[in-house]
Amino acid sequence: MCTGIFFHYQQGERLKDFPQALNGILEKDNVFFYDALYLSKPRSSFDLEPIPIETLHKIHSPGMIDRVKATGNFEGALYSAAGTLSAAIKVCSDELLNAFVFTGYGDHHAGSNFFSGGCYLTGAAIAIHELQEKFGAKRFAIIDTDAHHGDGTWELFENNPTVLYICFCSGSSQEKIQNVNVHVPFKIKDSVYTALAKESFEKLVKVFKPEIIFWNWGYDGTIGEYGDIGLTPELHMKLAMEIKKLALEVCRGRVIVVLCGGSRRDLAVYLIPRIIKILVD
Ligand SMILES: [Zn+2]
Ligand SMILES: [Zn+2]
Repeated sequence: MCTGIFFHYQQGERLKDFPQALNGILEKDNVFFYDALYLSKPRSSFDLEPIPIETLHKIHSPGMIDRVKATGNFEGALYSAAGTLSAAIKVCSDELLNAFVFTGYGDHHAGSNFFSGGCYLTGAAIAIHELQEKFGAKRFAIIDTDAHHGDGTWELFENNPTVLYICFCSGSSQEKIQNVNVHVPFKIKDSVYTALAKESFEKLVKVFKPEIIFWNWGYDGTIGEYGDIGLTPELHMKLAMEIKKLALEVCRGRVIVVLCGGSRRDLAVYLIPRIIKILVD
């Protein structure tokens, strides 16, 4: 089974070294590379279709989409969300086992009628809506380990029992229907974070039994980043292994990693190929 990598070329400064930094991975037989603008054509390259406006309106209000367009970041946001949607359809159809989605513009701060923090569209919500409507899929989990609270994702699913949303952030621990916020203290040790993650994921995801796990993965909580909560770079690989193992146990390995926060180019080059390798191997 194969891993899909979804990429486009309006990703901003932090991803300037990609896709070149994936050399050695893109050549593997079980890796498929999907891009949007035909600028690079490694082996197994496919086109990434943008999302129709009617599909966006099922999650985000028309007025909000107009405000996103006025920022000048709409096209980049659209291709970011399109990557998540394409990944979800291909995983749901068993064309891919798992996927990594590059998003120049993140996901979890975009709600039904608001957006902030460099997030303009919530690709995971758009994807889940489409899979439920057109593919008969029912239950999904979103694990969010970006350093900040995913207020957009939270709002979109707070009354939806079909989506388990687990958000790790500095906000206080709370639960609503299937939305769960797990408080992460400042300067947390990696070992405490991984224990907290393992405990929450095992407790919640194994009981919920989603068909696909989305992982909103941000590295902005890493030491030296803008959301520094004291995490080491190595923690992210431990989380990736934990989530991969969990996905193998509950949903035949179906996991889609959606890149969220983080700004450092050097960390992107260090972390992203390692996370993808864990998916591929
Ligand atoms: Zn963040
Ligand atoms: Zn949160």
